[in-house]
Amino acid sequence: MDDRRYEMYSRRQKKEFEDICSRCGECCGAKDDPCVSLAMTKDGKYCCRDYKNRLGPRKTVSGKSFTCVTIREHINSGTLRPGCAYRNLK
Ligand code: SF4
Ligand code: SF4
Repeated sequence: MDDRRYEMYSRRQKKEFEDICSRCGECCGAKDDPCVSLAMTKDGKYCCRDYKNRLGPRKTVSGKSFTCVTIREHINSGTLRPGCAYRNLK
């Protein structure tokens, strides 16, 4: 596979993986103490206001500190939230 095709393949794989997310916001604290960057969209789902720079130290609305990590890290460390769509991955 040449570089360009590999790049396209990787992008498609990444999009397919990200599309699994139902945007329920659970992993960002939507049901309890949300991250300050969490926002609700018009369709009643959630999004991150700072997605590109999201990883690393963050604060919740009540002022608690935590670290935002990738969903892959949640999967690998077994910390997926109960309603997370990635729990159904085979
Ligand atoms: S910074 Fe992380 S935890 Fe906060 S809303 Fe964005 S993705 Fe969620
Ligand atoms: S808990 Fe899972 S499905 Fe819900 S927003 Fe987070 S990654 Fe997406």
